[in-house]
Order: sequence, then structure tokens, then C-alpha cells
Amino acid sequence: MKNEKVDVIAIDGPAGSGKSTTARLVAQKLGFTYLDTGAMYRAVTLKSLRQGLDLENEAELSSLVSTTKIELCHSKGRLKITLDDENVTHKLRSQNVNLCVPKVAAMPVVRKWMVRLQHNMGAKGKLVAEGRDIGTVVFPNARLKIYLVASIEARAKRRAKDFFQASSKINLNNVIEELKSRDQIDCTRETAPLRKADDAIELDTTNLTIEQQVDFIVKQWNKNTENQDKM
Ligand code: C5P
Repeated sequence: MKNEKVDVIAIDGPAGSGKSTTARLVAQKLGFTYLDTGAMYRAVTLKSLRQGLDLENEAELSSLVSTTKIELCHSKGRLKITLDDENVTHKLRSQNVNLCVPKVAAMPVVRKWMVRLQHNMGAKGKLVAEGRDIGTVVFPNARLKIYLVASIEARAKRRAKDFFQASSKINLNNVIEELKSRDQIDCTRETAPLRKADDAIELDTTNLTIEQQVDFIVKQWNKNTENQDKM
């Protein structure tokens, strides 16, 4: 049936709102598969950059995606991302990829291809998927939808910690500017802009620990499934 719910937890929200760590831990706790859709957009961006493509040229990106293979696999509790069989897990967080990924992700041809891949990956259900359009476009029938938000300062601090742990010369203002610019492109693009699904629960993570976020989502999931059992 078209409106039948699927066993998916959709977690959307802007960069640095805590999606990745939260989604990974929720998946671990529930024994679900974790799907990091941002990593998939990053991988295709890396390939476009390596090939020197014009990131706003739909035809160039169309021929790129038709010959691209992206796979996500889980090994020893970690996510491994391969691009045409090369392990690119540690190459997806460079400044250049950060800057260019929203442009590539705004292209309809790329999004259409990604959604197909993500549906295939989620076909078996029991999935925690995180991104920007999971509750609105990829899995609109997800049984639970969460929309994470946090103050720009909190998000920038988290991003700085994630990406530049080794560097002592982090300029937080630069990170804030980068996040703002990425949010702006992600929220205003024509295809699948970042927005809260009408039936998503909003959770402000500014003052929450990761454990509290995970706990909240697991409780919501258990509540939903209990209600489902009673029906
Ligand atoms: O979540 P992460 O910061 O890795 O995402 C990188 C970028 O990928 C986002 O800024 C956005 O442009 C794009 N993205 C998207 N749709 C998704 C996931 C990520 O457009 N479902």
C-alpha cells in the first residue's frame, strides 16, 4: 500500500546538528543498518573534482553518475565508503569537498540517481538513514522522522572538532561562515531542499549530549512500535 509505514528512522537536519553520530549509535542500539547519505554526496563530489568537471553542468554530471559505483559497508562498527571500489572513507571531509558538495547535491540528475541507490540500500528496512531529504523525499513513509536542530555556534564547534582535531589553528568564524553558506544552498535549492517533514519530531540538540539524543530517539522508536503492536 502506498501509505504503509516502513521500518526506517529518518534523521534530517543541517550540518553539525549531530545527525551522523546520533544515527550511527541509534542504529547500533536497535541492530539496524546505518545509512549516511551525506557521505554518498561527498563521494560523488570527490569524483567530480578529481575529473575537473564543471559542477554546474548537468550533462557532465549525468554521464559521471552513469558510470559511478558507490558502496557503503560496515566493518568493525565503522562505516566504509567505496567509490568505484576505492576506499575513500578518509578523503570525504576535505575543505574542497565541503565547499563543493552542496553544488553537486543541488543537481536534479545527481539527486535522482542517489534516491534510487538509497532505496535499494534500504529495501530490507530496519534502517537509520540521515541526511537532508530523508523524511521528505527518500523515505516519506518512514515510521519515525526526527529533525535535528542546534545553534550555529554549537554546530560550528562540533564541526571544528570533527574535521580539524589535529589542527590548533581553527578559526571558528570561518567554520560558521562555511556552515551558513552550506545551509543557504541546501535550504534554497529547487530539488529536495532541506526542510522539516510535516510529521517529523524536532529535537534541539544545542544543550544535549549524544547519549541524550540517542536515548530520545530510541524511546520514540519503542513507543511507536508499541503503539503499532496495539493496532
Ligand atoms: O551530512 P553531510 O554534512 O556529510 O552532507 C554533506 C552535503 O551533502 C550537505 O551539505 C548537502 O549539500 C548534501 N546532502 C544532501 N542530501 C542528503 C545528504 C547530504 O543534499 N540527503
